Amino acid sequence: MSRFLTEKLQNLIPYTPGEQPKNMDSLLKLNTNENPYPPAPSVVELLSMEQASALRLYPDPDCRLFVQAVADYHGLGAENVFPGNGSDEVLAFCFLGLCPNGAAFADITYGFYKVCAGLFGVDASIVPLRDDFTICVEDYSDLRGTVFIANPNAPTGLSLPLPEIEKLLRQNRDRLVVVDEAYVEFGGRSALPLLEKYDNLLIVRTLSKSHSLAGARLGYALGSAEIISDLNRMRFSFNPYNINRLSLFSGAAAIRDVNYLKECREKIIKSREYTTLELRNLGFKVLESHANFVFAGDNPKISGGDYMNRLRDNNILVRHFDVPRMANYVRITIGTQTQMERLVAVTKRLLGG
Ligand SMILES: *Cc1c(COP(=O)(O)O)cnc(C)c1O
Repeated sequence: MSRFLTEKLQNLIPYTPGEQPKNMDSLLKLNTNENPYPPAPSVVELLSMEQASALRLYPDPDCRLFVQAVADYHGLGAENVFPGNGSDEVLAFCFLGLCPNGAAFADITYGFYKVCAGLFGVDASIVPLRDDFTICVEDYSDLRGTVFIANPNAPTGLSLPLPEIEKLLRQNRDRLVVVDEAYVEFGGRSALPLLEKYDNLLIVRTLSKSHSLAGARLGYALGSAEIISDLNRMRFSFNPYNINRLSLFSGAAAIRDVNYLKECREKIIKSREYTTLELRNLGFKVLESHANFVFAGDNPKISGGDYMNRLRDNNILVRHFDVPRMANYVRITIGTQTQMERLVAVTKRLLGG
């Protein structure tokens, strides 16, 4: 630490991203919930020489091409869409400016919430999940801070039924509820139908997982025109050109290719069901996932940490969180069917079966 770092940031604990190894040869990467399929063909076709030479120009600060594609996809107006450099950036703006009374989120959820609260000095109430890893919305009833719910949740993959989300929204109409739907395309139910009725709802989405665009860094928020305008006030004060040209084009093309999304999603869901079944047969407890990963563990034959390490010895990367309640589990991203068969075969061998 240099002597120049602001005192209030000296205790900041940054987010630890999943490993992104340099040498990918023969390595099966199931640790960061990326999509195993390439982006939509229309995205690849777009990345032309012409696009490359246009990089000399600043991108559209209003991100109109992308924002309109998102608005059309969801049947909303452009004024209800906020574009972000990944949904992490959208979430960061929420913590920066939309948490006047602090924030509240689960003990087991996306780790970035806690990090971000720390960065912006937002008081965070940590609300433990039930023993079965489900969210109890009643636990939030006395809290005033902005609620952050990942639905489906990470790293559990469990989803919270819509009526429960609605209960949260109704508990306190003056409290903002941010629903992070990073994984909703893989079988969760979106809170989108509630937007019309509740102006204290903000939905956050990403193209990183469902649209195979993790490298493009694209996310967005959906909400009332007033909240979207607040977010834009922050964006234009921080980085008005937050999304680069290539990403804007890629994102618009990917969002418009609904059929390709469906195709990839169905393949991933099928492989998820396969992986869940096989791992259960091998003695793992596997939570009912609605995401592109499974949370598996609690196997008397192998601990979560050992399982991660032994898979690593076999060139398969999965994510392990060495913290209470999660230490005996690993999070496994769903890859292609062939990749999941490899994971299952290696697991069988490790367990001596
Ligand atoms: C991956 C993830 C994000 C971040 O997505 P980016 O758009 O890549 O920044 C946000 N929320 C949850 C729950 C995630 O798992």
